[in-house]
Amino acid sequence: TETAGESAPDLLARIEALAIENKQIHEKDCFNLNPATNVMNPRAEALLASGIGTRPSLGYPGDKYEMGLEAIEEIEVIAAELAAEVFGARFAEIRVPSGAMANLFAFMATCKPGDTIIAPPASVGGHVTHHGAGCAGLYGLRTVPAPVSADDYSIDIKALADLVEREQPKLITLGASLNLFEHPVRAVREIADSVGATLMFDAAHQCGIIAGKAWSDPLAEGAHLMTMSTYKSLGGPAGGLIVTNDAELAKRLDQIAFPGMTANFDAAKSAALAVSLLDWRVHGRAYAQKMIEVSKALAAALKARGVPVFETPRGMTDSHQFAVLAAGYGGGQAASKTLRKAGFLACGIGLPVAEVQGDLNGLRIGTPELVRWGVDIGDIPALADLIAEGLQANDPGAVAARTRAMRAGFDRVHYVV
Ligand code: PLP
Repeated sequence: TETAGESAPDLLARIEALAIENKQIHEKDCFNLNPATNVMNPRAEALLASGIGTRPSLGYPGDKYEMGLEAIEEIEVIAAELAAEVFGARFAEIRVPSGAMANLFAFMATCKPGDTIIAPPASVGGHVTHHGAGCAGLYGLRTVPAPVSADDYSIDIKALADLVEREQPKLITLGASLNLFEHPVRAVREIADSVGATLMFDAAHQCGIIAGKAWSDPLAEGAHLMTMSTYKSLGGPAGGLIVTNDAELAKRLDQIAFPGMTANFDAAKSAALAVSLLDWRVHGRAYAQKMIEVSKALAAALKARGVPVFETPRGMTDSHQFAVLAAGYGGGQAASKTLRKAGFLACGIGLPVAEVQGDLNGLRIGTPELVRWGVDIGDIPALADLIAEGLQANDPGAVAARTRAMRAGFDRVHYVV
């Protein structure tokens, strides 16, 4: 390998330089339009590096296996209580390494290998974890794709009722990697009840606008449990979280977390998560509203500049995300590579339109990080000019210097305690 011949001091210097380079890309050179990432509260970031993450955490608060963990177990309790508070839930499971693992925990708590589940397909942003190649398939579940309503960028309720009657699934999932309009949770719950199925809501992306009360609470609408990532719109450390109001499910999730799938877990992450959840307690409503406001304004501004924003009879978006039809740019990943040269970070997504050979047919854009750095409605015309030019120019690199100059005006993290 390349590193085998490299001295330890050289490698150390290289790794440290790469970390600095990454910060330069994300915080100086580029605007991040990718809704699957965010910048953390600097005090949460400091806690992540505070050294408590390497300490043991095995066992329950008040009954830990190793000694000297009084402080760590209090952090664990605070984080779980704040998670339940922010999501208005009775139970929160924080010992979850990622959004993908949150889904696996949820599958294990609700299904047995061999069971059938119904999940949104990729054409409406359905995530691989719900399907054969992901943890659903690895756990032995058989996934039947849910029928799609292109106009809602969601599930076709009428067709779902027929499919559920035929397939008798154990679990139905809602929620995707792009969520433009609220999903029909109540209607899907009714359908789930007709066959005794559980309804899981994957809020990996929209947990922020749910926490900020800009979108309805899926648990209140009828979902039995809700999984999420903690580092996307939620702006916390990389990890997962599950909330539920169902005591029986909470008990099973607890057993899956420990002693099932985790022994020791990262207490530094729990501390960082607790601080990020405090951000939501204090600033959540304002942050969520602003993410949506800026998303709608940016979608409209791009459309006005000739960028083909994906539109349905319901509009372009009600969320912190929207999408661009990417066929004219060679596909979603090709468009993302072009934008990267112009100083914008984004990625492709599936849309319910004609496929693009060898690429995704959509480009996904979101506002969690823009807003966290303080981008507001007044900044949208200048930002949209740069994005549109970056997408359309023959030489997107020529836009990068102007993007970098604008980016320099946003150097403080907002909506943090
Ligand atoms: N569910 C959805 C809908 C996602 O978009 C993602 C994104 O990666 C995940 C689950 C997995 O989350 P994580 O990246 O935290 O494992």
